[in-house]
Amino acid sequence: MTALTALKGIGEKNAILYDRIGIDSVEDCVFYFPRDYIRYEKISLPDEFTADRMTAFEAVIVKRPLVRYVKKLSVTSVMLSAGGTAVFATWFNMPYLSKSLKPGTSYVFRAILTNEGDHYHVRQPQIFQKDQYENLLERINPVYSLTKGLTNQAMTKTVQKCFEMIGDDLEPELFDIHFPKDEETLKRARNKLVFDEFLSFILRLRMLKGKEDLASNDFKMIEAAECERIIERLPYRLTNAQMRVWEEIKNDLCSQRSMRRLVQGDVGSGKTVVATLAAITVGINRHQCAIMAPTEILANQHYTFITGLLASNGIDLKPVLLTGSMSALAKKNVRAMIEEGSADIVIGTHALFQEGVVYKDLALVITDEQHRFGALQRSRLTSKNTADNAHVLVMSATPIPRTLALILYGDLDISVIDEVPSHKLPVKNAVVNESYRNNAYKFMEKEISAGHQVYVICPLIEESEGMDAKNVTDTAREMSAIFGENVKIGVLHGQLKASQKQKVMDDFAGGFTDILVSTTVVEVGVNVPNATVMMIEDADRFGLAALHQLRGRIGRGSAQSYCIFMSTTDNPDTMKRLEILKSTNDGFKIAEEDLKMRGPGEIFGVRQSGDLHFRLADIYSDAEILKEAAAKASDILFDDPDLSKPENADIRAMLARSGDLSLVSSTL
Ligand code: ADP
Ligand code: MG
Repeated sequence: MTALTALKGIGEKNAILYDRIGIDSVEDCVFYFPRDYIRYEKISLPDEFTADRMTAFEAVIVKRPLVRYVKKLSVTSVMLSAGGTAVFATWFNMPYLSKSLKPGTSYVFRAILTNEGDHYHVRQPQIFQKDQYENLLERINPVYSLTKGLTNQAMTKTVQKCFEMIGDDLEPELFDIHFPKDEETLKRARNKLVFDEFLSFILRLRMLKGKEDLASNDFKMIEAAECERIIERLPYRLTNAQMRVWEEIKNDLCSQRSMRRLVQGDVGSGKTVVATLAAITVGINRHQCAIMAPTEILANQHYTFITGLLASNGIDLKPVLLTGSMSALAKKNVRAMIEEGSADIVIGTHALFQEGVVYKDLALVITDEQHRFGALQRSRLTSKNTADNAHVLVMSATPIPRTLALILYGDLDISVIDEVPSHKLPVKNAVVNESYRNNAYKFMEKEISAGHQVYVICPLIEESEGMDAKNVTDTAREMSAIFGENVKIGVLHGQLKASQKQKVMDDFAGGFTDILVSTTVVEVGVNVPNATVMMIEDADRFGLAALHQLRGRIGRGSAQSYCIFMSTTDNPDTMKRLEILKSTNDGFKIAEEDLKMRGPGEIFGVRQSGDLHFRLADIYSDAEILKEAAAKASDILFDDPDLSKPENADIRAMLARSGDLSLVSSTL
């Protein structure tokens, strides 16, 4: 890995910005794919102007710009003349423009034109020199997810420099996905990278089960009476589906073969308690179990749940928590307990399998809501002390239609918890637009005064260049202005430190905050039964699967819950898509309907995969490529089961690389 600061023009100060979006090295940067592309419009003449459309036009500055202040906001305005046609331009918070825009000079401006009768108006137009714009016209230009202080132009330059430095050693598709020369090249590059992404995923999965497939069960368990007692004393009855899956797991643990099982269950189907029973069985049999969660918040939640369950049932097993944000000393102590064997159930994030963690007697690894088998796989390769034959249990809430699940997980045994506890009232849904906003706020206020809590979900963390969507930072500010100081508001997003996130989540779970304004980081697994309302801003920007996962955060207690999908567009296709969410709460049905509506040809569609964060691939719209990759994986492994042949060196390198790369779009 080469530090980003090795590039000319990137100093320590700049590097912090890149670090915020998860880019530490030149290699990271190359794999930070565009979230979209801009095709610049050709320059329009005044008689070609069409209102409400993105337009590029050449115009001359007529008079010196004016700067007005409205409260702390500055508005810079200037009159332009496009060959005699008057265009009025305004910019917010860019007072310095008044100096740089000199009367008499001409530029190319690009923005949506609105017709104001005797003149046109453009808001926040981009400004280019004419030759600069003509250069852009010839290319398809990448658009990146950014952070405050980082412009798309700067990001683009940095990516270019990375390719200048290491591009010769990379496959050409990587360059083409950033800087495609035409649509055809873009499509080809994307298909190839999606194929590789699927291939790595499937190979890793299959190798995980792989050659120990037929290995005998080194940790054969005896059923624990304690588990039956716990089940009887739970405050609810396990559903039939939970019971069935629990039986399947128990059978695996006690059988001749070691377990390789995936449990699929929609959000709220109650996977945690089933996994916990497995962990306790292992503990009672005097072995160790590790439970890996994708986030610290979830790890904490599991730890609290399991600790409580053990205590209230008087079971003498020791649970410990191990996460990246713990102090070095605390980690050291926990590692010592794991190594000497006094820790029975180890709960944490992927810190569980990082260097320095040695298990005395690891017999079961549970991965919750997790698709990144990379961490586990690598630990199995590097750490001799991690038993190779440990039982493996993977929990997933991503509702993947059966046909795709078989391809993706073909080699794991699959259990499905296809039932949601019946006492729960189904969530009531509304798909609305801006005109409903005030009603939505009134409704939230009512629920809050009744003692309930509210989630507000936004696509972005903060204002980001070129992205017209709600962000958490401004939304939280607006909400506190609207609701006043009696309503406490928490803010959660992926750029907070782990300890800050934990504090925010604890405050919300404890009822100290009323409204949690968050990005989709709350998507996975979070359980706050008192929250009864979720409002999802810019709902049309999310995939249905992701929306369904988000909605799964409410409807967890006994009170009626409500989900408000706020959409900024009235586009009939979008509305039809969102209406699917209204018609059903069944994640599998939603996934299937969505798949039907979106033809496989749809490239660069909305991200669908919920907790399957592929960088580019989308299991739904790329289903065809997925099938090809699965077939290829079978061929490769048939010929070379452990990928040891020299001709598979490239594939080994690809697997190693994809295991290390864990960037998820930074705007979340
Ligand atoms: P998920 O499958 O999404 O991980 P959880 O395991 O977090 O779901 O369970 C969601 C909620 O449902 C929790 O509050 C849990 O206590 C509760 N729960 C689990 N099983 C049942 C059941 N059989 N009946 C009623 N509530 C249950
Ligand atoms: Mg869960």
